[in-house]
Amino acid sequence: MTSTIGSTVLGYPRIGPNRELKRALESYWAGRGTEADLRATARRLRADTWRDLHGTGLDSVPGNTFSYYDHMLDTAVTFGAIPPRYARLGLGPLDTYFAMARGVESTPPLEMTKWFDTNYHYLVPEIGPNTRFHLADRTPLEDHREAAELGVATRPVLVGPVTFLLLSKPDSDAPESFRPVDKVDELLDAYALLLSELHDAGVEWVQLDEPAFVADRTLAELDALSRAYRRLGENTRRPKILVASYFGELGEALGRLASAPVEALALDFASGYSTVDSLSASHGLRDKTLVAGLVDGRNVWRTDPDRALTTAGTLLGIAGEVAVSTSCSLLHVPYDVEAETRIDPRVKPWLAFARQKVREVVVLGRALRGDRDAVADELAETKAAVADRKGAEGVHDERVRARLAALGPRDTRRADYATRQARQRESLPLPPLPTTTIGSFPQTGDVRRARADLRAGAIDHAEYTRRMRAEIERVVRTQEDLGLDVLVHGEPERNDMVQYFAEHLAGFVSTDHGWVQSYGSRCVRPPILFGDVSRPEPITVGWATYAQRLTDRPVKGMLTGPVTILAWSFVRDDQPLADTARQVALAMRDEVRDLEAAGLRVIQVDEPALRELLPLRAVRHKEYLDWAVEAFRLATAGAAAHTQIHTHLCYSEFGDVIDAIVALDADVTSIEAARSRMEVLGDLNAVGFARGVGPGVYDIHSPRVPERAEVTDLLRAALEAVPADRLWVNPDCGLKTRGYAEVEPALRHLVEAAAEVRASAR
Ligand code: GLN
Ligand code: ZN
Repeated sequence: MTSTIGSTVLGYPRIGPNRELKRALESYWAGRGTEADLRATARRLRADTWRDLHGTGLDSVPGNTFSYYDHMLDTAVTFGAIPPRYARLGLGPLDTYFAMARGVESTPPLEMTKWFDTNYHYLVPEIGPNTRFHLADRTPLEDHREAAELGVATRPVLVGPVTFLLLSKPDSDAPESFRPVDKVDELLDAYALLLSELHDAGVEWVQLDEPAFVADRTLAELDALSRAYRRLGENTRRPKILVASYFGELGEALGRLASAPVEALALDFASGYSTVDSLSASHGLRDKTLVAGLVDGRNVWRTDPDRALTTAGTLLGIAGEVAVSTSCSLLHVPYDVEAETRIDPRVKPWLAFARQKVREVVVLGRALRGDRDAVADELAETKAAVADRKGAEGVHDERVRARLAALGPRDTRRADYATRQARQRESLPLPPLPTTTIGSFPQTGDVRRARADLRAGAIDHAEYTRRMRAEIERVVRTQEDLGLDVLVHGEPERNDMVQYFAEHLAGFVSTDHGWVQSYGSRCVRPPILFGDVSRPEPITVGWATYAQRLTDRPVKGMLTGPVTILAWSFVRDDQPLADTARQVALAMRDEVRDLEAAGLRVIQVDEPALRELLPLRAVRHKEYLDWAVEAFRLATAGAAAHTQIHTHLCYSEFGDVIDAIVALDADVTSIEAARSRMEVLGDLNAVGFARGVGPGVYDIHSPRVPERAEVTDLLRAALEAVPADRLWVNPDCGLKTRGYAEVEPALRHLVEAAAEVRASAR
């Protein structure tokens, strides 16, 4: 048995190379498959993962990386933090678990939120003074045994106790002053017990993930970290402990962990520690193994071996021992580049998905140990691919660069709002409290089939256009019948609001099998942005003008903003994100101009991900928000004063981004608000926001149809904060995930409520 970590990865995808887990879960939930079927699929997926990781030559194979739904939920179950309302349902363990994840008729699920700044979503555990932590479930042990039976010694991976508590929320019984982290000592007893049982079962290393410490933390929280690892470390009946951090730099927490009695620390050299200077001998890593995250775990590019080995070489002088790893779990990348048989052959050699990254780690590990000869061919091949990417045509487009260089401050500034408002009143006669929607209408079976048929070559372009136009006409007539004021074409041609644009812009490639888990059984297939971005030809103009020709009412053109396109794609790592954002913005600016020239008077540029990309550390917020705002303005400021620019943001807690929302300078901003009872309006007023605003009055995330009176009440509440000439009436978000059976009555109530409030406000 090896005692060093050598080469490893911090985690691995678990949905299955062909999304086997997704299928098994969904058929179990639908009652088509049994629990035994689901468990058998899960077991097979685990076995395949261990065999692959072991077979590729990793020195240390991570264990317990499988999850039926989410690893935070797993941790809550392991340590007995099941809220009583789920325990009371009287279901078996697996169904109780799924009830927490997805809800049942009588009981909604736990809240779900984003895992740091990734597109993975975790379930938020609820902890209260009455939560009794104990070792309630031994999945990590069973997982280890299962792997051992297959001849693979794993290193069980667990969410660390402090991160677990910091990412949890107080339950509804908790007093105002209660924080989940207050219960760290009680939780540590349960962790210590699990560690000693793992030790007794022959586990040599355990990995405890503490990524919460790459974000800003209070002194008390840092103290909790120190206390936790002193307590776990001082226990002698335990495996060796690797504390893993990822998604950024540990900052002050690094010193705390360096002085804790643990054997290894994993640091992220892909998104943190860009220079080794920020680490130094003074950090006291002499007696520790530094698990260097040299291979980017959340992006798809091949690693430059020279750069990685140089970094590793410097680390040898700082740490007692250096191991090679991914910067984070490979959960965030697809399985295998080799599955992509149709991808652009120029781009393919530049890419590494999970399987390729495991091999990169192995090769770097051998090279670092002086075994360079054995991996010389692989190193040379990788270097050639990395060099090819650097010089490749399509990565640098001089026309794009020249256009960006010629831009000045006037290109991001529109006429002042008063002028715009006056011009828009002339060009766009609208009643007070105008009604509209966020863009998409329900995606019916026919719509999906038409897109699939086109992709499969079963229908030609003319037939596809005919079907889409029929759908657009239906959506326009529906909106006219309902009496909406500003119409949309309904977005039937879009599978996804980012992928659709990526497929039409130069500089992007799409994958066929590049699925990444978003939450539970839900996966996304992010496009890959590899080169300078430009727009070969208009993208949405044909559909939008078709819709506009059908009606006298204004139709709103519908675009995705540059920040959201970046947030939901794999992005380049060879230039600052801000530069990439400006390129995407320029392409969208062309689209705005063409929509305007084609007669569209209203154009919406969606930025639902503006907040998602917010850096984890507050010191970096301003820099990000500056370029994010600039990109939006670059995309939209080419519009004339008479063109009304809308934006849509998908969240209701603004906090850190509220000033940026003002700075976007959109004429109308629609935002999620139905669930927070219009509180956001007060927040916007407080920072002097004085333009059009459409607080969502219908929660589209729920199948419930709001009564007209509920909408009326919300609008009256909104009118307390916003005058009638600035208030818009719209749902919370796009309607694509809903069905017409709910959408039609809901929109009817929305239109009726607007008319009622309009009449009485007069
Ligand atoms: N226009 C998009 C839609 O309606 C916006 C979606 C979103 O906010 N995520 O679907
Ligand atoms: Zn939205």
